[in-house]
Amino acid sequence: MTGQGATSEREMRGVRRLIVLGSTGSIGTQALEVVRHLNGLHGAGASPVRYEVVGLCAGRNAGLLAEQAREFGVRECGLAGGGVIDGVRCRVGPGAAEALVREVEADVVLAAIVGVAGLPATLAAVELGRDVALANKETLVAAGALVVPAALRSGARLLPVDSEHSAAWQCLAGLPGSEEWPPMEAPSCVRRLVLTASGGPFRTWSAARAYDATPEEALAHPTWSMGSKVTIDSATLVNKGLEVVEAHWLFGLGADRIGVLIHPGSIVHAIAELSDGSAIAQLGAPDMRVPIQHALSAPLRLPGCGRALDIDSLRTFEFETPCEDRFPAIGLARRVVEAGGTSGAVFNAANEAAVDAFLRARSIRFGRIVEIVGEAMEAIAPRPVRSLADVMEADGEARAFVASRVGEGLAHRVR
Ligand code: NDP
Repeated sequence: MTGQGATSEREMRGVRRLIVLGSTGSIGTQALEVVRHLNGLHGAGASPVRYEVVGLCAGRNAGLLAEQAREFGVRECGLAGGGVIDGVRCRVGPGAAEALVREVEADVVLAAIVGVAGLPATLAAVELGRDVALANKETLVAAGALVVPAALRSGARLLPVDSEHSAAWQCLAGLPGSEEWPPMEAPSCVRRLVLTASGGPFRTWSAARAYDATPEEALAHPTWSMGSKVTIDSATLVNKGLEVVEAHWLFGLGADRIGVLIHPGSIVHAIAELSDGSAIAQLGAPDMRVPIQHALSAPLRLPGCGRALDIDSLRTFEFETPCEDRFPAIGLARRVVEAGGTSGAVFNAANEAAVDAFLRARSIRFGRIVEIVGEAMEAIAPRPVRSLADVMEADGEARAFVASRVGEGLAHRVR
């Protein structure tokens, strides 16, 4: 199960030790809800799997982290922003998550820290051969060239939590020639993998109106309830760009075999187009507990705690091809897949810095986010990725570039 040698007595009892990174966030709290549910099923004799939470890590929310530690009986934690929790060994500072992963034995690490801040801990988990339930897509975008080879060496499985990649995994896994667990090479019978995008809150707005959207307008996502950074990424469609790169690393597909389709209902999450002319799609209600549970219980299909799809109420599916002039983030992501090297780290870091400038400092307009990302990619040539240091150097360069551009934009400070 874990790539860590002989099956232990604990594993035979179905107990899996879990570390949750980013436990106080949107994905982290929903993951703990799934764990409560799975453990309830186990207690009722309805599931062979039970999760023992052995580590939790958060950024600043010490109050919620303490509550979670108490509820799940966790004694090993990390709190990047610093703090003390009674009865708990708490690692602090920016290296807290990585230290927790390296020091606490686990079978599965759920990676749900937002941004490249989650990279060192996720990479450590992969190197240690832990299965990684991966929500932190920024890790693969910035450092897929390190993470995927490390997973292949250690035997770690990368279990997608992102709904589109969970869907893609479910579409691909049963096909002839396919492996069961990512990272995998999509078999040659897959002509194209199509990821769907809701289109975000500005799909029907004119480009000019969307350019000046406020943070509040950009945070009002039509179908998903998520953390603030990924919600802004959904509005710019950078999220879909990040997901194109994530799909490249998880399923071994080139940019020409990954498509994007706008689907405002967020019911169909991914479609595999096959060489025989048929296509396999995965459907589900827009509820992250469904893919989280799949990551934590596959290949089993256990009663779910997420919203079930009401098939009888489905009437029409609306799809449209995204206009890449209107949503240039998708084209930028294709360039990342083609260029490789540090281009993913630049794409990701420029976006993180630009989103921060828009959301927290309110120092750039909404429409500038993707423009600045494109400018950073033009200005910073990709270099080979040999180590984490290469990734972090490119990350730092992209952030410095954005800081210089944001400074220029201060004269036009937004509402
Ligand atoms: P949130 O902003 O809701 O949560 C982020 C979590 O990361 C919080 O627990 C936060 O702690 C923690 N954190 C932040 N910085 C650090 C740090 N330096 N060290 C340790 N912990 C840190 O984000 P989401 O849950 O929405 O997203 C998490 C990841 O999942 C992202 O990569 C996102 O793209 C991906 N994802 C999210 C989806 C969603 O529906 N939300 C869907 C698919 C993917 P604290 O709050 O205590 O400061």
